[in-house]
Amino acid sequence: MSILQQMMECGHERVCFHHDEDTGLRAIVAIHSTVLGNALGGTRRWHYSSETEALYDVLRLSEGMTYKAAAAGLSMGGAKSVVLLPGRGSPGNEAEARSLGRFVDTFSGNYIAAEDVGTTPQYVDWMAMETPHVMGGDRVSRGGDPSPFTAQGVVNAMKASLSHLGRPVDFAGLTVAIQGVGSVGQNVGRILVEQGAQIIVADISDQSTAMMAEKYDATVVSTEDILSIECDILSPCALGGVISASNVADLHCEILCGGANNILQDPDEDAATIHRRSILYAPDFIANAGGLIELAGLHLGMSRQELDERNSGIEETTLHVLDMTKEAISSHEAAVKFAMDRIALVKQEKVHAH
Ligand code: NAD
Repeated sequence: MSILQQMMECGHERVCFHHDEDTGLRAIVAIHSTVLGNALGGTRRWHYSSETEALYDVLRLSEGMTYKAAAAGLSMGGAKSVVLLPGRGSPGNEAEARSLGRFVDTFSGNYIAAEDVGTTPQYVDWMAMETPHVMGGDRVSRGGDPSPFTAQGVVNAMKASLSHLGRPVDFAGLTVAIQGVGSVGQNVGRILVEQGAQIIVADISDQSTAMMAEKYDATVVSTEDILSIECDILSPCALGGVISASNVADLHCEILCGGANNILQDPDEDAATIHRRSILYAPDFIANAGGLIELAGLHLGMSRQELDERNSGIEETTLHVLDMTKEAISSHEAAVKFAMDRIALVKQEKVHAH
């Protein structure tokens, strides 16, 4: 399928490729929608096996950002960028980040870059030396690491899931399995243990799991076993596409609620199968909106109180979407409808205003 056809299929407004000869930077910015406002989305640095894979990733992630911002009630569109690394784990440096910053600047604020997998507040600050259109740094730009806020939002979505099932909204005595204990996953674990839960963790980094075992008395299992482990809540907080037709049958949880983007490989199909298996799936882009709410909210000038209220509001939004779920409508479909209805409403208001 041609790039334009792919854009038309997912409804993208703009996709730009960039190559910088001096630093070797290769990047793609995808702006999915600016109907609700300028579009904020993280920069993912990754060693993709092909350009096609990188394009697929940025198109899918940016579309998800539109739904995430819309469902969170933000006046923000959806976008994302990816940096195509020449090798696995190539460290980011100032020259590369500043080069990307110059590329981001060409969008004049239509695209606002932030952190994602492979980037740090330091990287964002390097970008901010070239453009004001970034969020999530500590010194040159604002906002800092959004992960603790993302984690808090995920826990709020877990509360809504318990409530929807008619279970006490209390983590004491519950077992939560967390796949990936990086920035988001370790904060999810911390909050849950503080609230009385027991956690089971897995990560490809032995250092990260050892830290969770020592600090939070976490049980460590292998990365092969984590998704099929018996638990109350399974929380994927590593990369996307971890639940697919090949492993849905192996899930042994009551609730699936994580911080990762695009948890389901084929959201329509997999969410329907999960629904049929009577497992409750809290839609990822609603559950993990806490970091976006924090950075976009700061960008839009919200006060600390409003930011916290909106993060707490993830519980109500999740509950609302779960209540929209019916026999024939999975929670993913309900969440997409919820987000798209808001975008359609704003579009209509704009037409009437002209
Ligand atoms: P991170 O890189 O800090 O953490 C990811 C962790 O997953 C790492 O510890 C890594 O070793 C581990 N991991 C990778 N592959 C694994 C595997 N196969 N099995 C087990 N562990 C594995 O990233 P993060 O910022 O914590 O983000 C995690 C996910 O949450 C990503 O999908 C990201 O897009 C999403 N997300 C993050 C934020 C945020 O605020 N950081 C916001 C929204 C969504």
